[in-house]
Amino acid sequence: EDFTPFRNEPFTDFTTAENKNAMQEALGVARSALGQSYDLYIGGRPERTAKKFHSVNPARPAEIVGTHFEAGPEEAQAAIDAAQLAFATWKHTTVSDRAGLLLKAASMIRERHLDFCAWLTLEVGKNFAEADADVGECIDFLEFYAREALKLDAATTPIQFPGERNLLRYVPLGVGAVIPPWNFPFAIMAGMTCAAIVTGNTVVLKPSPDAPTIAARFVELMIEAGLPDGVINLVQGGPDVGRAITENAAIRFIAFTGSKKVGLEIHANAAKTLPGQRFIRRTILELGGKDAIIVEADCDIDAAVEGVATSAFGFNGQKCSACSRVIVEDSIYDVFCDRLAARVSKFEVGDPAENVYLGPVINEVAKKRVLDYIEIGKTEGRLIAGGNAIDKEGGYYLEPTIFADIAPTSRIAQEEVFGPLLAVIRSKGFDDALAIANDTEYGLTGALYTNSREKLARARDEFHVGNLYFNRKCTGAMVGAHPFGGFNLSGTDSKAGGPDYLLLFTQAKSVAEKI
Ligand code: NAD
Repeated sequence: EDFTPFRNEPFTDFTTAENKNAMQEALGVARSALGQSYDLYIGGRPERTAKKFHSVNPARPAEIVGTHFEAGPEEAQAAIDAAQLAFATWKHTTVSDRAGLLLKAASMIRERHLDFCAWLTLEVGKNFAEADADVGECIDFLEFYAREALKLDAATTPIQFPGERNLLRYVPLGVGAVIPPWNFPFAIMAGMTCAAIVTGNTVVLKPSPDAPTIAARFVELMIEAGLPDGVINLVQGGPDVGRAITENAAIRFIAFTGSKKVGLEIHANAAKTLPGQRFIRRTILELGGKDAIIVEADCDIDAAVEGVATSAFGFNGQKCSACSRVIVEDSIYDVFCDRLAARVSKFEVGDPAENVYLGPVINEVAKKRVLDYIEIGKTEGRLIAGGNAIDKEGGYYLEPTIFADIAPTSRIAQEEVFGPLLAVIRSKGFDDALAIANDTEYGLTGALYTNSREKLARARDEFHVGNLYFNRKCTGAMVGAHPFGGFNLSGTDSKAGGPDYLLLFTQAKSVAEKI
């Protein structure tokens, strides 16, 4: 088949009345379907359990977004069995059929783009542009992995040995567990799932209990697109069912994106061989970050202020890529702090359904965690913006908060807060700044603002992160252009949206025939 070259999905311009109205209309439609029940899917069959749970609108927690059914060990086992059964046939389907399914799903999502945006706004509190970016990235993953799968299928051995015909084929692994986080509940959830299935694996997908509705609607779309029974099995619930799936002798690989704590637990358990297990379980882990932006005195200060403000506070800092440390050169430190605090205090906080820039954080636990870190920050530095919760319709709102004069080793400079909290650290110069930036157990994203080619060259070599950006924000990775994944305890550097990603879901088989 002939595919057009990959191109990133364009962003929707919500400054036009037409697009804004269309989004408001989509929100109206989604609102009329709030609270609806969603089934689990096991072997293509819709299933329910006796244990219901709800996802709520973080802007108005009294509002139930979706009603779901919590899976237990029995459903986990049934889902794995169904995936195993489906694997026997799915692994023999052609790559072009599998890629075709992804492209069909991508075009269906494109048609319902704003509907998915609306569900993201209501379920996780994304403003219009953030929701649009999540849906766009989801489409990009499907389009990109469809093409990458075909490329991988066309792979050849580098050398033909004289007197033989040599083949190299990338074959699927088997049944995988896919466990996404709540913060990119569409793109990351669908991206990991589709990378696994396009390469011929079958999966058990367990979404985050904070964002189960988006995932359920995605699985329903995949079924509508022609997904055979058992290729994606959907089970809902939290850590318990997560463990029941990942700690099963039939699970060949685990694709996980989430916190360091859970990722390392999965990694440790995956290293144990369970009775009956016939392979070494593979883990693909994308974890947290404590991402730094270095601001040098020779840069465009206003551009740096803008880049830091949006990197730190876009979607309330609830991105693994979010800037949570800004390291500022001594000679511009005071000016930078003043301008940054002034810029950030202009951010509006309110209902994302009204397209307010900063919505709520995801839940009560997240709100409390950030407030606890604010108390820690007060003992570690100087509060220069925010610092309080905001009371509005019971939503989980917080002011964007900045602490200056933070020591590089202090807790809010070392621990991932995953909320609207930024630490400002003073540097004595570029060597010092690089040392501070690299003094972390993480290594996901980073950025440098400078006009010096020499510093850019040094950062390219010495700033130890998986995704490095120069004179721009450190969030907003684009599929294909910025393959995404981190160093150190930020994960296995799997590079989602990159040319090596699908390899992680395959094993290579070499076949030599004497001629
Ligand atoms: P989380 O680790 O709390 O949960 C992630 C998923 O794991 C959820 O589906 C959860 O239900 C499940 N889970 C929890 N405990 C489990 C267990 N013991 N066994 C199996 N599954 C279990 O993370 P979160 O709050 O959903 O997401 C935020 C985190 O994700 C942050 O740390 C963020 O930096 C990280 N993140 C990383 C990337 C990346 O690409 N590196 C992208 C997005 C988010």
